[in-house]
Amino acid sequence: MLKFQNTLTGNLEEFQPLDRNNVKLYICGPTVWSFAHIGNFRTFIFGDILRRYLKYKNYNLTHAMNLTDVDDRIINEAKKAGKTINAFTEPFVQAFWEDADALGLERPELAPRATEHIAEMISLIEKLIENGHAYESDGSIYYRISAFKDYGKLSKINFKGNVSGASGRVDTDKYDKENANDFALWKLVDADEPTGWDASFGRGRPGWHVECSAMAMKYFGETFDIHAGGVDLKFPHHENEIAQSEGATNKQFARVWLHAEHLKVEGETMSKSLGNYYTFRDLIEKGYTATAIRYLLLSVPYYKQLNFTFETLDGAENTLERLRDFRKRLVEANLLDGEDLNLQKSTEKYLSEFEAALDDNLNTSAALAALHNLVRETNSALANETVLIGNRDEILQTIEKIDSVLGIFGAEKPAELLEAEIENMINERQETRRNRNFARSDEVRDLLAAQGIVLEDTKDGVRWKRK
Ligand SMILES: [Zn+2]
Repeated sequence: MLKFQNTLTGNLEEFQPLDRNNVKLYICGPTVWSFAHIGNFRTFIFGDILRRYLKYKNYNLTHAMNLTDVDDRIINEAKKAGKTINAFTEPFVQAFWEDADALGLERPELAPRATEHIAEMISLIEKLIENGHAYESDGSIYYRISAFKDYGKLSKINFKGNVSGASGRVDTDKYDKENANDFALWKLVDADEPTGWDASFGRGRPGWHVECSAMAMKYFGETFDIHAGGVDLKFPHHENEIAQSEGATNKQFARVWLHAEHLKVEGETMSKSLGNYYTFRDLIEKGYTATAIRYLLLSVPYYKQLNFTFETLDGAENTLERLRDFRKRLVEANLLDGEDLNLQKSTEKYLSEFEAALDDNLNTSAALAALHNLVRETNSALANETVLIGNRDEILQTIEKIDSVLGIFGAEKPAELLEAEIENMINERQETRRNRNFARSDEVRDLLAAQGIVLEDTKDGVRWKRK
């Protein structure tokens, strides 16, 4: 039975979608003003495990992830670069998908962009003005949180009495708001500002929070199954999404809310000023592999803080190499026909442990433990020569099932096929060298290198290994 820790209720609950043939999952996506960092990708990898496991459990799924391609930073950075916001964000959109693909993130079915849904945001704001949940002040439109009695129900923050002036940290002199916690739905822009849209309530641009409400409801309707994101979005972003959506519809917005905890680096909060800020690309430049980064980021369950260190990343590289070596050894082993019953039982047990771990609020570390136990037991069975052909088939299938969720072995071809190809290429290189066609032999060597295959010339001929 699949259970999630629902932030909204505070309980571990059985997952009961409105329609198991069309589960609707909305995850807040990146703001495309720079390259995404590893904290962002921790959340997106959690989202990927969530979507893959729902599919594993035979739910049909529509997964939406928005791209925030307009906000104050984007407008300012675009201005500095002398570009339109679209020209400024486009390379970061492309970079995000490249990084996501490299990390093995399955593409969401829907990836709506904020700037393409301004009309939906405007009509949502109109509805909120009409029913008294929003008001105009100095040309901007604000959400009136005192009009939404459930405000605070997600973050469990008590806002009663927390009115204008109660908190010295809230900048209230800049805007004329009724309440310090009221937030902008629509911001007035200057007449000469190139980024702006016309609305019945004046020319301006949307606030960040209203984007997600408008896009989620456009694609998923007023009520849908799961809304997820990083824990830093719980307040105010998600609290505000609920206020906007439910304030407009009077119906429950998302039924289950899931939040991925913070990522720390060497025990500290990641920040540029501390010099411990890493994008995915920074780690690739340091020579780490995308699958090891993925492994590390999913190795701690999403509901716990993850402490990223280079030591654990090195460990992840080694672990993955061991896992792949294991699979290769198993594929290549000379085995006898039949099936060992004890090993068969263990294989089934580890698969059900894997499923039980993920059923329990996506406990990925327990899921990995089940995989490692399967590998350990199979290794000792290989040493004792009790692995038979039937066991091998079953174990390889089990690993494939597990990896359909974890995605850590890498999208490699079956080892045998790959090896035959490598041998063929090595033979071709030897032959072209004998024929003194060095251009082609170098080309073949480079093709192999691009696949991570290193050649070693020995007196017994050419040996190869994976980098
Ligand atoms: Zn959002």
